[in-house]
Amino acid sequence: MTNAENKKVLSGLSLAELEEFIVNNGEPAFRAKQLQNWLCKKHANTFESMNNLSKNFRSKLEDIAIISDTKIKQKLVSNDGTIKYLLEYPDGNVVETVLMSFDKRPNLTACVSTQVGCPVGCTFCATGKRGFIRNLKAREIVDQVLTIQRDLNISVTNLVYMGQGEPLLNYDETVKSINILNSELEIGIRRITVSTSGIVPKIYQLTEMNRQLVLALSLHAPDHELRKKLMPIEEKYPVEDVIKAMKHYAEKTGRRVTIEYTLIDGVNDSTEHAEKVNKLLKGLKYNINLIPYNPVCGDKFKKPSMERINRFKSVLEKVERKVTVRLERGTDIAAACGQLAGQIL
Ligand code: SAH
Ligand code: SF4
Repeated sequence: MTNAENKKVLSGLSLAELEEFIVNNGEPAFRAKQLQNWLCKKHANTFESMNNLSKNFRSKLEDIAIISDTKIKQKLVSNDGTIKYLLEYPDGNVVETVLMSFDKRPNLTACVSTQVGCPVGCTFCATGKRGFIRNLKAREIVDQVLTIQRDLNISVTNLVYMGQGEPLLNYDETVKSINILNSELEIGIRRITVSTSGIVPKIYQLTEMNRQLVLALSLHAPDHELRKKLMPIEEKYPVEDVIKAMKHYAEKTGRRVTIEYTLIDGVNDSTEHAEKVNKLLKGLKYNINLIPYNPVCGDKFKKPSMERINRFKSVLEKVERKVTVRLERGTDIAAACGQLAGQIL
């Protein structure tokens, strides 16, 4: 990819791509590794600052390349420290990338987007309401993380693929971005979570990779009828088949999966629903994460009371101890789950 001035954009490329570019420009391949180190580990904003590269090489880079073409269009800091970035690509499309830090832990978690908009169209999700615009390239996904790292001069330690888009409907670029983030930014594979609405054939494909990724499923309803109303994807991939695929993933990789369940008042949050969830997940190794519904503009849904949330939780705890209620992060800046729709606030 080159920008308007015909310069190569480097941030987010794999090492092999960077090497190819360097060698095609008459430089020895080992320089790619040094350059990648500046881009991925040292958060360099300019070629000038890359002071172990020769002056000649640096000035050549100025002529033929740019570091990044991802622009920070807006940056919002929440009361709880969550930072939401609105990032703009050269074609004018914007996505959100969110950075969360959790108290008392040195972890810095980035939530990345894989598509502009989303084709799945879940009824409770702001991204879904926006429709689908385009897939992101691996380089663009990786550059979301690198842009944050350059901006704050920090290193991200954990990643969740939970921003805009359905990662498994942009499978190849998602997997490629995971490989780059894992091998070149050295974000541990066990610290990377991919969240899906349940694209069955792609869950099997991901299982074949046999990596130690955390796979998270957006369940949200324990039966076909209700799930269909909330998530149109249920028509194509019924929940029973999705759970079968998740079991296969857990067994093959030896990794416990995560189940995400957005609690919507009076819709999917009764004790009967919780009992059904327990039954449905029998035989699966999982942690379950309850997400109290976050308001989306113009929506008919409501968040349940704390009492209802706790009642639901206690039913789940009868069979599975690892039940957590996801803390609301960044609701004041519309950075919470389901609130990402590429708008400027
Ligand atoms: N597209 C992927 C990943 C992104 S969404 C997926 O659906 O899994 C991250 C999580 O937030 C998903 O579990 C999603 O269903 C949930 N979510 C969407 N809208 C929400 C809302 N308004 N309130 C709470 N959670 C929501
Ligand atoms: Fe897409 Fe996930 Fe939103 Fe559903 S919840 S519309 S899959 S981003």
